[in-house]
Amino acid sequence: MIKVLVSSCLVGNKVRYNASCLSVPESDLSWLRSKAELVVFCPEVSAGLPTPRAPAEIIKGRGMDVLDGSAYVVGNDGVDVTTQFISGAKNALELCQKQKIEYAVLAEGSPSCGSSKIYDGTFKGNKIDGVGVTVALLERHGIKVYSQHTIAKLRSLLDG
Ligand code: SF4
Repeated sequence: MIKVLVSSCLVGNKVRYNASCLSVPESDLSWLRSKAELVVFCPEVSAGLPTPRAPAEIIKGRGMDVLDGSAYVVGNDGVDVTTQFISGAKNALELCQKQKIEYAVLAEGSPSCGSSKIYDGTFKGNKIDGVGVTVALLERHGIKVYSQHTIAKLRSLLDG
């Protein structure tokens, strides 16, 4: 059975910045569990960030820019958490490489886990196209990342 990396907050663990989790339709989770062994992971917690924690956004760029050093990540308390976000991304990649994981389902919108939308760095609730830091690193290494909103695409791929 293949393994799929899954955001911890998508399977009921209250590890988001505000100590909540996100809901995913049970039918999607059941399908995923029937097809794959879920490797549950939170990049931010893995990097030592506490829960709850200040909500963070990428400033002046997207996930790939953070990896390249031209953008950074700060909390709404003004604390720079770039180092922790990059550590979390590296932890996720290391886990995928060790366990030969080629697919991930990660939480949309997050500055770590977002795979099509992230917040624009103004803390005003504006979203822009782009990926988070963990997704940028995983995609650079060939791992295909989906979100809770695009599980159907993974389904059509795996169900053939
Ligand atoms: Fe969920 Fe990813 Fe944020 Fe962790 S870093 S709480 S897994 S969205």
